[in-house]
Amino acid sequence: MVKAVVGANWGDEGKGKITDMLAQDADVVVRFQGGANAGHTIKNDYGKFALHTLPSGVFSQNTVNVIGSGVALDVTKFFNEVKDITSKGVPMPKIMISDRCQIVMPYHVLFDQYEEERLGKAAFGSTKSGIAPFYSDKFAKIGFQVNELFDDELIKSKLEKALIQKNCLLEHLYHKPLLSVDELFDTLVKYREMLEPYVGDTASFIEQALKDGKTVLMEGQLGTLKDTDHGIYPMVTSSNTIASYSAVSAGIPPYEIKQIITVVKAYSSAVGGGAFVSEIFGDEADELRNRGGDGGEFGATTGRPRRVGWFDCVASKYGCRIQGTTDVAFTVLDVLGYLDEIPVCTAYEVDGKETTEFPVTRLLEKAKPVLKTLPGWKCDIRGIRNYEDLPENCKKYIEFAEQQIGYPITMVSNGPAREDIIYRKSSLKK
Ligand code: GDP
Repeated sequence: MVKAVVGANWGDEGKGKITDMLAQDADVVVRFQGGANAGHTIKNDYGKFALHTLPSGVFSQNTVNVIGSGVALDVTKFFNEVKDITSKGVPMPKIMISDRCQIVMPYHVLFDQYEEERLGKAAFGSTKSGIAPFYSDKFAKIGFQVNELFDDELIKSKLEKALIQKNCLLEHLYHKPLLSVDELFDTLVKYREMLEPYVGDTASFIEQALKDGKTVLMEGQLGTLKDTDHGIYPMVTSSNTIASYSAVSAGIPPYEIKQIITVVKAYSSAVGGGAFVSEIFGDEADELRNRGGDGGEFGATTGRPRRVGWFDCVASKYGCRIQGTTDVAFTVLDVLGYLDEIPVCTAYEVDGKETTEFPVTRLLEKAKPVLKTLPGWKCDIRGIRNYEDLPENCKKYIEFAEQQIGYPITMVSNGPAREDIIYRKSSLKK
């Protein structure tokens, strides 16, 4: 049985926590896209961790953690992360890396920096982890698959070809030092030695796991609105963040995915640029930002302050639909307990017309939020375990959000810890 945990919004919805919870019962956890450019924050018995590339199953010893073919694998960062968790008392996890996965080359990171520098004010706000240059090269067919590192001749000839183009850009566009084939060759050989114990045919492994009746959990990074195809292009990430892509990356048929748990945050937050219709500013924003998440809304990878806003029903409904949601996990609800009244964005006004359909970016840029205000519950809801015990106004907020997005909220997260979760029966049909 395959389940996916994915985000409906701009990322940072609290997927890490939900994945960590579900990973305890998963035999296999698969990271399927992106690289070390984003991060999950996980709080469990071992402590608090910011995972970037490692799948969230690394905390349970029976789980095999797979890096799917769609991931941008930064070898150094990957092994530093392994070192970090094991030095904090987590036993060495079981890891398997797809032999078709491609690696982030040192020059991808450089090109990411140089390009953002060159763009100046028009920069994308990249985390400069090399992700966009990595995926560009993958589709330009000059990337390096992990299995290719085991062939010296192949590495050399591929490097020679790639560097003609890279050095041309370095010399004439960026005016930066040139790259050498020999130096990169040595780096790749080092990577090969590090990777060797973990490389395998992950698609066959997952196929067998499914035949054996095992549970496989697909772990998404970021959210629908950052998906290259369906998000707020061009202010998106360079890979597909949606559940359907997890089938591609794992190498399984799409119909194997039986449950898609979409994580929806009870208010909005985003990092990087791009349209953000329900965004708030000033003192109101500072207060939500400082109270948000677990210790404030600041990027898990970059430490950057996140932009914040009210719950956006339009974006969340769209986000859930594109993911193919079967269940919604509604998260970080406890944070809103300080508000007398809670504004919610129920529609957009675009060119004088109201809509509840999420528009393409060109129109999204013009959208203004249509807000409705719901009464707050004015208390701390952490520690509550039964839905019935939540304050009346809090239940109304959840039920209103559910009606607006049209997908069943079956989990409500009211704190960062594993046990801060309330299961709920929804009257909405799946
Ligand atoms: P991800 O990228 O979707 O995994 O999101 P993050 O790692 O950025 O998670 C958001 C933050 O919210 C983290 O610091 C989590 O520990 C925290 N968090 C997750 N769920 C909850 C919740 O229900 N309540 C609170 N207060 N914090 C939460």
